[in-house]
Amino acid sequence: MASQHPLQPGLFSWPSEDPELLGSRCMDCGEHAFPSQDSCRACSSEQTEIVGLGRSGRLWTWTIQSFMPKSPYLTYETAETFHPYGVGYVELPCGLKVESRLRENSPETLAIGLDMDLEIVPVRSDDDGRQLMTFQFHAAVSP
Ligand SMILES: [Zn+2]
Repeated sequence: MASQHPLQPGLFSWPSEDPELLGSRCMDCGEHAFPSQDSCRACSSEQTEIVGLGRSGRLWTWTIQSFMPKSPYLTYETAETFHPYGVGYVELPCGLKVESRLRENSPETLAIGLDMDLEIVPVRSDDDGRQLMTFQFHAAVSP
């Protein structure tokens, strides 16, 4: 099996049995950020720490991407093999809303307020044949 690597480092804990999103928390005012930030956008403090943001949240809003996005959109897919996918904002327990690809891709399977869980999925291979992984959310239970 091809080796697997995160598409972007630092976004999620992985490999892990229970991967979670990684962000930052301001040690002065408690503001969270995703992706992690070296300084706080709320109070400008530079005292931030990397924290786990959990692996579940609530679907805040969503849409279906029904046509192939413009370049750079690097996956295994071509215009002929493209499959629609869901895109949404998932509200995490800390209050942050994170934009994410969604496993579900039809209006019948998505609803605002759904409980969502994180999963780590392959996106594409790089030039060295390594499989690149990213995060997405899926409904914890079907509506
Ligand atoms: Zn702050």
